[in-house]
Amino acid sequence: MTTRSVGALLIQAGATTEERVAEALARQSTDARRLGALLLDAGAVSAGALRTALGAQSGVRFVDLVEVGCDPEVGALLPGHFAEGLGVIPLRRDGDTLIVATRDPGATVLLDELTDVLGAAQLGIVGVTAADWDAFQRYDAASTELAVVVRRQVERLLSDLDPTVTDSLILERTGRLSRLRERRHGRLHTRAAVPARLHAALAAALEDASRDSGGQIIARTFGSPEQRTLTLTPARVAPRSAPELGLATEDLQHLDRLMQRGAGLVLVIGPHASGRTTTAAALVTPLAASRHIVALTTGRQPTGLGAPLTATSPALLHDAVDGALGLAPDVILVDVARVEDLPRLASAAHDGRLVVATLSGTRVVETLRLALTADRLTRWRIAAAVSAAIAQRLVRAPCPDCACDDPESAAFMTEFGVPAEVAARVSLRRAQGCTSCHGSGVAGRVLLSEVLVATDELRAALRDDATPARLLELARQSGAHTLWEDGVAKALAGQTTAAELRRVLTEPSP
Ligand SMILES: [Zn+2]
Repeated sequence: MTTRSVGALLIQAGATTEERVAEALARQSTDARRLGALLLDAGAVSAGALRTALGAQSGVRFVDLVEVGCDPEVGALLPGHFAEGLGVIPLRRDGDTLIVATRDPGATVLLDELTDVLGAAQLGIVGVTAADWDAFQRYDAASTELAVVVRRQVERLLSDLDPTVTDSLILERTGRLSRLRERRHGRLHTRAAVPARLHAALAAALEDASRDSGGQIIARTFGSPEQRTLTLTPARVAPRSAPELGLATEDLQHLDRLMQRGAGLVLVIGPHASGRTTTAAALVTPLAASRHIVALTTGRQPTGLGAPLTATSPALLHDAVDGALGLAPDVILVDVARVEDLPRLASAAHDGRLVVATLSGTRVVETLRLALTADRLTRWRIAAAVSAAIAQRLVRAPCPDCACDDPESAAFMTEFGVPAEVAARVSLRRAQGCTSCHGSGVAGRVLLSEVLVATDELRAALRDDATPARLLELARQSGAHTLWEDGVAKALAGQTTAAELRRVLTEPSP
């Protein structure tokens, strides 16, 4: 390689002039650096043009190191002072080839010797200009410091992790940033944001911390290699058992039989914060000892099922269903499924799996009909797969220490359609607040539910797109009650209040 040819190439490309090259060559008598560096220093050529010329001359591709970055694991193959002395930085592996950056592509003998040292079958060489090299050294030093800061931050965050408030920690790569977010009570809070090239280092730090936690923090990865998301979940106390949920005994017996049968599609319907996740998880949990369960969740609500596969958005969850099926589970829990997911979940149920999915909606019949508006064949498949649907709400229970008869009880009961002879005997309750409930008047929450266990007749009606009234009639014949009926019964028993029914249920009766 001759310096003259670089100059000639630059002049030929119109990147500089003969005079500037002559000036730089003259300066070489007192400055030992290469011609390219001198031209760059003098502002006689752009870094891009020099890169192109050097590439053409040496047959080595020139890259912008700052842009390309360096895989921290591969970079660690060569200690910093060696890299500096040799002018070589290992960047990444490409099969058997180790790609290294050098500021002196002419020094190929040295690079050949490095092949053994670096444990690679061969080297792929990319070049960098001297100016780039210096910029990268500064950039990399800054990144290293940043990595140390991030690691400290991660350690502090993990040592403070409280399983009663932290649902999960999510490390996600989005574009140029890698973000570490904490999910507390369903809300996401960003705890750290670093350049995406530190993603791998950060993921490694989190995985190490999980390993060191002795099972207290469980790490799971999710997604494609490029967009890999790492989720850390604190180990939790056991989830609530199904009887603790507050479902009617008879409904529980039906549901338990369905769960034990181990196939079909069970939908748990409700709006956000209706306890639908808790119910779905409680139904599935007794099967954990004997069946292979895969839980797919957006992680907003803890399922209590160890470490589920966690997607960070409903769209990602949608993509993950195929992946979950690939794990050949006996049982799949999907929280929260979308109506668009139902055809695939129904297919999984037809293949002999039990699929329990939570779904946003208000009432069983309306939600089912909404889910079945797809084309005829799809509707048939879903209708045939559904084995049960539960709609539910959580309402506040009045504090027993300050509860009293509701003065508007009679008016409410007329409005709610309670028979006069019943209304004459009982009174609804309400609570104004006292010291034992800290003035809230509330003591815990009570579940309102409607449970529909599908019969062949009901499946046929769903398939044939029967009216809501007809579906409800069939549901009643199989012993189902509506959310509203359950609510009124619980209000009459003093377990909740008229105000709560009005808050949570919009229409008194179908
Ligand atoms: Zn009270």
